[in-house]
Amino acid sequence: MTLVLHDTLAREKRPFEPADPGRVTLYVCGPTVYNYAHIGNARPAVVFDLLFRVLRRLYGEDQVVYARNITDVDDKINQAAIDQDVEIGAITDKFTAIYHQDMDALGVLRPTLEPRATAHIGEMLVLIGKLIEGGSAYAAEGHVLFDTQSFADYGKLSGRSLDDMIAGARVEVAPYKRHPADFVLWKPSKAGEPVWDSPWGAGRPGWHIECSAMVGKTLGDTIDIHGGGHDLIFPHHENEIAQSRCADHTPVYARYWVHNGFLTMDAEKMSKSLGNVKLVHELIKRAPGEALRWALLSGHYRAPLDWTDELIAQSRKSLDRLYGALKRALDVDVDLGGEPPPTVLDALLDDLNTPRAMAELFALAKTLETSEDASERQAAKSALLGAGRLLGFLQQDPIAWFEGGADAGLKAKVEALLVERFAARQAKDWATADRIRDELNALNVVVMDNAEGATWRLKDGETK
Ligand code: AMP
Ligand code: ZN
Repeated sequence: MTLVLHDTLAREKRPFEPADPGRVTLYVCGPTVYNYAHIGNARPAVVFDLLFRVLRRLYGEDQVVYARNITDVDDKINQAAIDQDVEIGAITDKFTAIYHQDMDALGVLRPTLEPRATAHIGEMLVLIGKLIEGGSAYAAEGHVLFDTQSFADYGKLSGRSLDDMIAGARVEVAPYKRHPADFVLWKPSKAGEPVWDSPWGAGRPGWHIECSAMVGKTLGDTIDIHGGGHDLIFPHHENEIAQSRCADHTPVYARYWVHNGFLTMDAEKMSKSLGNVKLVHELIKRAPGEALRWALLSGHYRAPLDWTDELIAQSRKSLDRLYGALKRALDVDVDLGGEPPPTVLDALLDDLNTPRAMAELFALAKTLETSEDASERQAAKSALLGAGRLLGFLQQDPIAWFEGGADAGLKAKVEALLVERFAARQAKDWATADRIRDELNALNVVVMDNAEGATWRLKDGETK
């Protein structure tokens, strides 16, 4: 059983072998906390959550260390604090808490470590000092810049050469740069921005050095897997490699580079700057978080994924199908510790092939529903639940799934109406029974009668 991952640097799929199977290290660039996360931002969180789960399955829960940082030093954070006339910490604390709630709703496990940039300024200064000492960085006009010409492998990850970068550079390259591609490690703070002392003048770190410092501090000089969205390959990850390798004198910074594709809307990348965003915070009011997770994993993580209302509706239907099979099999006894079957594991081990893993879930549901053999049904249910647990699906009570999205007040009201309706039907009072059905309809509730009584659910895409 070998996990195969597509490595951006090698440009091919490679069998994954951790440097130390007793401590497998994964780092993913996390959110900049100044605003609500959109569903595009959630894609890396969900994709790498799945990778984290698969690694834990392979190497053991305590053997995998997953660090996902919080970027809490950023121009946009400063601007938000100025606009709202509050301390920077008030913005970053608020949006860190909201990010956690949103990701919890999508079934994303908390990473092992969640380093914050502001808590690692000391480590950043040490790294910058090492780079200057080693001749890979220079101070100029209150800035410290990385000297890209000092690092022969610069451009290897993104497949760009320094010459291309001269051609691509904008005209107004800062005069103190030795090469247009040289990037900032430290810079003076503008008025009102946070400021820290440094040997090169008071100021603040550049963005890239934050991740290098947090990776080094939390996981080590060489890590197993570094992940993030495709947009981070250049310049962010290219620069992380340059800084960390030069400061630590290591031939390898991350042994595998894994990048997720973009979430798009009408073929355009979802992004705050384009304004075409759907916030997780809003989406979870209209659809179960589990259905949004399903939608995010319904395509292969490296391919672009187009976000549409139909995708959400389709995802909900897929989960209805699986929870429906589980609901009709409530009497099938299984042990809760069911293992994911090899078919599902094989799909995930093949560079996280989630579409194939999901197809296997439907095959298990079909066996569960159609097999006449009790032990086969039992095995199918156990496998379905075990596979669901690995993928982060199917862990709710199936009845609760169909009632999903309803709050406690609505639930109580619906239950009371169903009791009344049952009594009316017993008494053959059809007029009252019909009136209650209309009332339930007005609450967006669909009633499904069956031999044991009635169950209910909210209509698609609606709550309350
Ligand atoms: P940000 O908060 O903008 O720094 O982004 C956080 C993470 O979300 C990064 O890993 C980005 O690569 C990723 N990301 C942002 N927009 C998208 C998108 N439309 N599709 C996929 N990933 C995205
Ligand atoms: Zn980063």
